[in-house]
Amino acid sequence: MKITKVTAKVYEWKGETEPPRAHFSGSAVDILPKRGESMASFRFHGWLVIEVETDEGIVGLGNCALAPRIAKQIIDLYLAPLIIGEDPDDNEYLWQKMYRSTIAWGRKGICMAAISALDIAIWDIKGKKAHKPVYKLLGGKTKDKLWCYASKLYANDDLDKFLEEAKGYLDQGFTAIKMRIGYGPADGPAGMRRNIEQVKALRNLCGPDIDIMVECYMGWTLEYARRMLPMIAEYNLRWVEEPVIPDDIEGYIELRKMNLMPIAGGEHEFTLFGFRDLLERRAFDVIQYDTNRVGGITAAVKVNALAEAFQVPVIPHSGMMHNYQVCMATTASPISEFFPVYKVEVGNELFYYIFKGDPIPDHGYITLDDHAEGLGISLRTDYLDKFNIIE
Ligand code: MG
Repeated sequence: MKITKVTAKVYEWKGETEPPRAHFSGSAVDILPKRGESMASFRFHGWLVIEVETDEGIVGLGNCALAPRIAKQIIDLYLAPLIIGEDPDDNEYLWQKMYRSTIAWGRKGICMAAISALDIAIWDIKGKKAHKPVYKLLGGKTKDKLWCYASKLYANDDLDKFLEEAKGYLDQGFTAIKMRIGYGPADGPAGMRRNIEQVKALRNLCGPDIDIMVECYMGWTLEYARRMLPMIAEYNLRWVEEPVIPDDIEGYIELRKMNLMPIAGGEHEFTLFGFRDLLERRAFDVIQYDTNRVGGITAAVKVNALAEAFQVPVIPHSGMMHNYQVCMATTASPISEFFPVYKVEVGNELFYYIFKGDPIPDHGYITLDDHAEGLGISLRTDYLDKFNIIE
């Protein structure tokens, strides 16, 4: 089998979006002036869709997000010519070819997202050719179904609305919920009180038997996190996520050593080498790569093996099929993230408007189809008029 064609399409949402609300989430630019603008910059409304065609008629689907127009340029100009004419069964060789050919300027960030998108499409081809779901090619099932946590619950000073959303997840049978933190260093003691109020209100609603996670999305500084963590430690959090920026590895190590709650991160880290450093330095209690950034499925399974040896759980960012397939095949993943299907808000939701076949949790658990071929997702056509598609 040979790869004959690679098509990279940018899907930009032009439909309705939820307007940004002040203090709905942290962001790394929050420490800068003009916070209103920073909140808007948190949102992204595009996705890259990859179709890799073969001479046997099998078409593999891949995807990545972040900066899809740039990823498309990287694929069109540099990566596609490297894999056209090659056998998609040679995923390790193709990964190394893409990684090593772009190493002077690639390695991390959007180039690795572009490599990830192609690698995911290559695995989709491998699964379709074998007439098996991808996880069956990665070692097979390690659990009957995937336990998921509901991941939305943006911060809200209107506690009634905040709790109403949380109650909706409990009513659906979720037993783990992640909330967003809305206030950071620029908001002073009043912001700290608001953060505490919302965490406390969620714990009171959920009682002791529900896992609660808190997402900071890089909106804090190390100094602020040192002060904030002791104030929310009594609410028995399963983890606090990305309290500081990903480059502040020493900061993560220090926060872990406070031993107040588990510290999670890694959704902005890339490849086996990036995670080797984080794991060796004991920077995180939980690592959270996204398969569509870390280097695709070829890289994700290597990180899983390493994490297993360090006994650090892998709980990939975002869920979605490219992550679920990998989670199913490793004991290192005890739970998966699930973004509830929703109106387009920050951009994560776009995946569901582009692809069909992604599983919806039933009472907090996802089942993967044993008889699916490849990833088990396909392109939907009923929202095409809501996208500006750049080909
Ligand atoms: Mg996160």
